[in-house]
Amino acid sequence: MKLLELQVREITPKITHLIFPTQYLMNASLARFSEYAEGKELQGKLFDWEDFQDWEAARSEDYSRQVRGHNLTSDDFTPFLEGRFYPLRRKEKTVLEIVAQKQAPFSAIATYGKGKNHLKHEIAHALFFLDQDYQEKARTIVEGIDSKKIKKHLARQGYKENNFIDEIQASLIEEEGLNCLQKEAGIDPKKYLPASERLKELFQYHAPQNWHDVEKGKIEIFPLPVYVSQRGLKRYQQSSLAGYSQEGK
Ligand SMILES: [Zn+2]
Repeated sequence: MKLLELQVREITPKITHLIFPTQYLMNASLARFSEYAEGKELQGKLFDWEDFQDWEAARSEDYSRQVRGHNLTSDDFTPFLEGRFYPLRRKEKTVLEIVAQKQAPFSAIATYGKGKNHLKHEIAHALFFLDQDYQEKARTIVEGIDSKKIKKHLARQGYKENNFIDEIQASLIEEEGLNCLQKEAGIDPKKYLPASERLKELFQYHAPQNWHDVEKGKIEIFPLPVYVSQRGLKRYQQSSLAGYSQEGK
């Protein structure tokens, strides 16, 4: 068993950034929280790891390599902290230890590797949850575009309708999101450039200072106990940093 490091960065007292060493570890640690929070089939349900694996096996894509980031709110952790998801797994306990110290409402976002991959997307989600003014303005921008195709694509990816507006604003805010829409759904990004520019300006105005300075600020280290050989570790570090992932949450 190896102890790997989970870095925890306070972007603001309300936004905590979890930086996992690999994509696999991020997804194995957060899958149940995220699927409980916003999964099309598992949202709001109590399910154990075996249920999750059965659900996952019936999908066409590998969850641990597909999902590139997570955003969770204080509410999403409540049933786990109340013991309704018993038994908890080691990785989940580590995450709960961190969030149990926070005062609701808060947002916990997660990335992996050097921590910058998909970061802006996840912070846009955190702002949408925490900042009423940001949410209203982002909503107005998204409601002003023809988003039928994007919504169809999101539904296919497993998003629920009540998350569409939030997911669209976070996707249009960075080039990568626009490129993904083109690559995965054949959606012409040009049509959405004016909305994207407006969302970027809105983000710039509301985003916490130094949100992108991953190396700076106070970082706490939490040990993640993981069964893996040295060789295995190298292999999954290489694969998770190679970025054959496609989707953030
Ligand atoms: Zn997202």
